[in-house]
Amino acid sequence: MKVKFLLIIGFCLSLSIRGFAQSTAQLLQKSMIALGNWEKVDHFEYTTKRMNLDKWQGYDFSNPLPEKDSFYLSFDLKGNRFLHHTQNHYPGGYLFDTYRLGRDTTYYVYDGIGSRTGKDLLNLGSSSFNNRKNALLNNFPYFILKQLLTEIKDEPVLTEENDLIISRKTPTGTEEYRFDKNTFLLKRISKIQGQDTLVQRFDNYSSSNGLMIAQKSSLERNGNLIYSDSLASFKYNKGIDNNVFDFPLGYKPVTEQTPKLSAKMLVKDVYLIENVDGDRNVLFVNMGTYIVLTEAPLSSATARSILEVIHTTLPDIPVKYVHLSHFHNDHIAGIAEMVKEGATIVCAESMKQPVIEMISNTDNTLYKTGKVNFSVFNNQKVLQDEQKKLEFYEIPNSHAKGMSFLYLPQEKLIYQGDLLSLPADSYLTPAIAVTREFSEFLHQKKIAFTEIIAHHGLALIPKNTFDEVINMH
Ligand SMILES: [Zn+2]
Repeated sequence: MKVKFLLIIGFCLSLSIRGFAQSTAQLLQKSMIALGNWEKVDHFEYTTKRMNLDKWQGYDFSNPLPEKDSFYLSFDLKGNRFLHHTQNHYPGGYLFDTYRLGRDTTYYVYDGIGSRTGKDLLNLGSSSFNNRKNALLNNFPYFILKQLLTEIKDEPVLTEENDLIISRKTPTGTEEYRFDKNTFLLKRISKIQGQDTLVQRFDNYSSSNGLMIAQKSSLERNGNLIYSDSLASFKYNKGIDNNVFDFPLGYKPVTEQTPKLSAKMLVKDVYLIENVDGDRNVLFVNMGTYIVLTEAPLSSATARSILEVIHTTLPDIPVKYVHLSHFHNDHIAGIAEMVKEGATIVCAESMKQPVIEMISNTDNTLYKTGKVNFSVFNNQKVLQDEQKKLEFYEIPNSHAKGMSFLYLPQEKLIYQGDLLSLPADSYLTPAIAVTREFSEFLHQKKIAFTEIIAHHGLALIPKNTFDEVINMH
């Protein structure tokens, strides 16, 4: 009799839970329970093999190839510390070996091999600590759902075939969370932010000592795959070596500075703007009645800040030409702003297509108003007046198809992007493939120079420093 009564109570309870399962909070709690007892996790270590596919950073824009990268994360939740280490490869022999360290509620970044930012230990302060911490935890469904649970109101749970769906409006757009109807595991998050649709997927869940973890995860933007991760290892509460969170030895603490941009005259009529958005440098040349500028980095805002410096330095002289060294987005994303000023784009013919795509992505009215002018070339182009001579050389290379650089024969100066990059602190590492290709090309063409100006990092590289990295092995 007693047993029967309890069974009836149990039956009624299970019915009511079924009913409540239709509320968002209940679904999120169920999904979190399905993931296992993450509450008991003090610390964990997680590594993936990451496949990156970014057409704006590949060798050939029309045929992007995947890069095999690595993603390591050690997280001490209890001690509020993390170390995130990534190894990213880019064409031409580039390896970005980046450590992101969070400790003492401060966020630090350093370069493990020193080829990019040398021996700087960059202190990014406490304001970015939480942002980075949350971004890292957002690789894991449990932490995503935990956060979501604190934000949801009473959005309804929708059902579609085998999925349960929570969708909600955010200040910047909409978000949709999809769960498997049978397992309650989070499958997919779609976020519409302005013009962009981001889709994060979690697949092939398996149990690791009682916690469910996705073996495969990926991110897509507007239907294009950005990366896909394959789980390499995951362990928790097994201890993390304390020195993982130590500061690296031999590094110099630095804080990020954003000095006001200014132009420095290198030789008559040739000006350098250093530290554009931190580690970039651009050159502009006064040809008397017009200006020639190199590169249009990062964004329209960055481009405007460069143009402002030029107009303050040389008022009333128009920027007539902008040379783009190669199609990578960090070198051309500000080009629409230069075009609006009436500048003609100088670049190798084979990179015209990505530049057109970048301009139409930024401001598709520019073509309709007929403002976009190109002066494309193959192999070599010369711009000359009575005073000055500028030579542009297209260079066969392994970093980006259609790469070219600027040579000023009278001044014996070269300006280039991504053929040679050294850290601003002058820490030297052996030349990578694309830098060796550059050196060979200069020899072959008998191009005499005393200094090379670089887009990234150290702005002025004397010839003997260049020789030194070429001779290092
Ligand atoms: Zn590049």
